[in-house]
Amino acid sequence: MSIAITGATGQLGSRVIQHLLNKHVAADDIIAVVRDKEKASSLVDIGVEVRHGDYDHPDTLENVFAGVDKLFFVSSPYNDDTRRIVQHANVVKAARDAGVKHIVYTSYAFAEESTIALAHVHLATEQAIRTTAIPFTFLRNSLYTEIFVNPALGASVENGAVVTNTGKGRLNTVTRNDLALAAATVLVEDGHENKTYTLVAHKTWSFDTLAQILSDIAGKTIVHKAVSLEEEIEILKKAGLPEHLVFMFSGIYQAISEGEISRTSEDLQKLIGTPTPLEETVKRSLLSEE
Ligand code: NAP
Repeated sequence: MSIAITGATGQLGSRVIQHLLNKHVAADDIIAVVRDKEKASSLVDIGVEVRHGDYDHPDTLENVFAGVDKLFFVSSPYNDDTRRIVQHANVVKAARDAGVKHIVYTSYAFAEESTIALAHVHLATEQAIRTTAIPFTFLRNSLYTEIFVNPALGASVENGAVVTNTGKGRLNTVTRNDLALAAATVLVEDGHENKTYTLVAHKTWSFDTLAQILSDIAGKTIVHKAVSLEEEIEILKKAGLPEHLVFMFSGIYQAISEGEISRTSEDLQKLIGTPTPLEETVKRSLLSEE
């Protein structure tokens, strides 16, 4: 059984490979598809086959999936959504032409109802995969907890406040590692063909919850200061974030305030058991372990 992983040098793809190995998949049954082979030398060292494939260059994808049974297709991180659809179509066509038997794709949770622009990329990609008639599994991933819980929170601890325009909005985020474990589970088990899983938390949290956890860990009061969208945009600009990130973050925060990221599902728990508690992720990120 040959399993190919795209985005294998990335944070999600590399964790999926680790979980496959933990689940006793032989290293020589894993094919890492990367755009920069030099970054993948540690995979070569452990016996994983590394192939070059770039979503932007269909010629590099022509033979990259030869002999692959299952493909774990990591969505592109590129920030031009229209171009991302083209990149993804290149991958899907190559998988079809190579006769891949099962595509597991990293989609986006509750994509149909989402107001976040990137949801369209994921829906378009799901439809492209359906046109191939290859059995699929769509892993509709939540936003990563690490987008919000990362070492930058150290500054909030120092300042005594987490500032967002999320209001009382709640989040259904999951850590990359839990999503990677769910993906590896789907890749090694039978019976996940033609299924769509909504991989969000079964319990939500808010920035008020996060401020309380930070207060408990730091031993001092840290509040969640709720600001307006306009104020948040100014704060992010002043912090020196590039313009696309200012609009991405303030837009995601706005979606949170409107309750868009608060729906729950049991799908993740069924695949991996209880996901990592928020407290643990916060502690690790403050210690910079993640
Ligand atoms: P990541 O660490 O940025 O990894 C992205 C991977 O895609 C890297 O291996 C990168 O290769 C590869 N890649 C980039 N452009 C490529 C191209 N043209 N052709 C082939 N490979 C290419 O992202 P991640 O954390 O693993 O997340 C996986 C994906 O989830 C992202 O790509 C993005 O679509 C999506 N995402 C989801 C969330 C969420 O909250 N759910 C947040 C951010 C992103 P290099 O190592 O060579 O750069």
